[in-house]
Amino acid sequence: MKYIDEFRDGALARKLAAAIVAEAEPGRRYHLMEFCGGHTHAISRYGITDLLPPSVRMIHGPGCPVCVLPIGRVDLAIGLALQQRVILATYGDCLRVPASNGLSLLKAKARGGDVRMVYSPADALTLAQAHPEREVVFFAIGFETTTPPTALVIKQAARLGLANFSVVCNHVLTPAAITNILESPEVRQLGTLALDGFIGPAHVSTIIGSQPYEFFAEEYHKPVVIAGFEPLDVMQAILMLVRQINQGRAEVENEFTRAVSREGNVKAQALVSEVFELRRTFEWRGLGQVPYSALRIRDAFATFDAERRFSLETRSVADNKACECGAILRGVKQPRDCKAFGTLCTPENPIGSCMVSSEGACAAYYSYGRFRETPGVAAPI
Ligand code: SF4
Repeated sequence: MKYIDEFRDGALARKLAAAIVAEAEPGRRYHLMEFCGGHTHAISRYGITDLLPPSVRMIHGPGCPVCVLPIGRVDLAIGLALQQRVILATYGDCLRVPASNGLSLLKAKARGGDVRMVYSPADALTLAQAHPEREVVFFAIGFETTTPPTALVIKQAARLGLANFSVVCNHVLTPAAITNILESPEVRQLGTLALDGFIGPAHVSTIIGSQPYEFFAEEYHKPVVIAGFEPLDVMQAILMLVRQINQGRAEVENEFTRAVSREGNVKAQALVSEVFELRRTFEWRGLGQVPYSALRIRDAFATFDAERRFSLETRSVADNKACECGAILRGVKQPRDCKAFGTLCTPENPIGSCMVSSEGACAAYYSYGRFRETPGVAAPI
């Protein structure tokens, strides 16, 4: 398949692995964070860490939209389904995220809540058109990639004059999360999380472009390489980061030139800023309250804002004490560090959100058998 097979070529992968081994200096450590859950998934699925020298360590970042959704926001959605009796529409992965009182949206559905899985915001809009007598709420999650389609349906709902459609907006922003990680005590004061460079997200960058990452390169002196989601994309990005670190450079480089430009998708950016504005703060699972890290619906479209329509208040709820998702999302721990991993917590019975989505680090490790310390990977510091 064009643009797939050539990026999964085993012979080329071996050449890239040999180049990384040859260029990574044995006396040096390369702590590289892949921000995005799609990269975490690719790294686990294709066993990329097995091909890396001991000096190169991959750290998993918080770029999985389902994983970073805090319990309090899922509780909002469950309340809408069970108390307000709306039709609650959302993506499949959201249905199994554990919430308060042992509930999830799926369990709320079993208790009689009208919870529907949709593949797109447009499906939710269609539901609202098909059920004019019911309130239909779309529970929107995701980074910059999934925000434009949500903006589009809100505009469509306005154009159609749909009075029974609204959105709970949980859309979050990648650059704010990277800043939060770089400013975190683990990185700045405690020194427990060494970070030498980032693999930048693929799909997110098709929307926002490569320009926003220039700040991290300049301000924090951290190299960033934007990479596609195929295994050779990731390996090429690792090689490019190793080279930058060896040469003392901190630049933004783009490995994913087949889809990402410096400016990004300007039309999509304009659409998003027409419908959404920055929230002052938003709670992320694992990162806590992160200033200006999420979007809310602008006053001009307030009638489609479910938080205002139903006077919703988000409560902050602590994660299950047995769950290490918070530390994993900050890059401080790995799934194997969690005592519940693969025993009490499995994809069939997830305790935390990182075991729910295929982009979650715990689910990726579990699915691809990364139960033990991977050969060639340095132990967590
Ligand atoms: S294995 Fe389960 S309980 Fe442990 S950190 Fe991952 S999601 Fe949380």
